[in-house]
Amino acid sequence: MQFVDLKHQYQLYREEILGELEQVMESAAFIQGPALRDLEAELASYVGVRHAIGCSSGTDALILGLMALEVQRGDEIIVPDFSFIATAETVALMGATPVFVDVQADTFNMDPAAVRAALTERTVGIIPVSLYGQIADMAALNAIAAEAGIWVMEDGAQSFGATQHGAQSGALSRVGTTSFFPAKPLGAYGDAGAVFTDDDDLAQRIRMLLNHGQRQRYDHAIVGLNARMDTLQAAVLKVKLRHFEDEIAARNEVADRYTSALAGSGIPTPTVVNGNTSVWAQYTVRVANRDTVRAHMQDAGIPTAVHYPIPLRRQDALSAYAVAGQKHPVTDAAAAEVMSLPMHPFLSSDDISAVTRALVAASSVPAHA
Ligand SMILES: *Cc1c(COP(=O)(O)O)cnc(C)c1O
Repeated sequence: MQFVDLKHQYQLYREEILGELEQVMESAAFIQGPALRDLEAELASYVGVRHAIGCSSGTDALILGLMALEVQRGDEIIVPDFSFIATAETVALMGATPVFVDVQADTFNMDPAAVRAALTERTVGIIPVSLYGQIADMAALNAIAAEAGIWVMEDGAQSFGATQHGAQSGALSRVGTTSFFPAKPLGAYGDAGAVFTDDDDLAQRIRMLLNHGQRQRYDHAIVGLNARMDTLQAAVLKVKLRHFEDEIAARNEVADRYTSALAGSGIPTPTVVNGNTSVWAQYTVRVANRDTVRAHMQDAGIPTAVHYPIPLRRQDALSAYAVAGQKHPVTDAAAAEVMSLPMHPFLSSDDISAVTRALVAASSVPAHA
């Protein structure tokens, strides 16, 4: 069984994908070609924002957002302690200070009360992560930011396609970012990402920044980088975007089946809070004796993954930003217990039963066995 089945997906869309790729190759418009412009228009309309800007990865999308927001050395930016490294790494790379806060036990997303407690006069922004495919509590976070006069930039690398009270991930903060890494819900055939905003000035800066700060050809207004989305990736994404709503529906069906099969097993299953829809980037349960459970599932041919085993404040690369004595009990418990099950739109009901049967059996094995 595959954890994410990209090979099956390719066979389904093969003709369409090859057709789009061939158009790019025949036109030789490899850099910022028409396929990228088309994709950006489709992304903007899908998300419901004025500007969708394709870029080279989800990490670069965060860097572009931080650069466009003119983050300065010494600025403090509040990030969740429980996320992929890029959320905080990009802040550190800018010379700013990531301030880690604990997450909520039901969704694993940033805890607004913890954000409020972490504000100082040096705080310039908040980067909530919409983890596992479900949007963080943006109403609460935007209210805190508005009161403090700071910005919010949603790291929607796992939540493209998710909604909160009907609005799309990427449209719920000053700037939103996403990743099209192959294994994300909407994945390219290599690295790619996007930035979303309704702010015309920010959008213009981001477009310049991702292309060497260039205003006109060889006329460079600001210091930038090469963070353009590859046009071949845009061609692949155009095709996959056409099928994405169907895939989201299929992912939700898989998630529902997992949840009903695990009901009554004593294994805590994911919560989608009222007003949210999830794209199920991950279907993540909590288990004690995780190593034992994973080994037993591996023996049964079921791949699992851990997102993420080490809190950001405990990573060697970032521990200099940890505050001595600060406790994040929800993050620490999650890092010790979370385990993600295979998740993709093409899991059969037999696959799903095999996963849940193996999980229930493995969970009842004593730790010393
Ligand atoms: C995947 C991911 C990123 C980085 O995206 P890349 O496209 O791999 O650079 C950033 N933040 C989160 C939360 C992610 O899951």
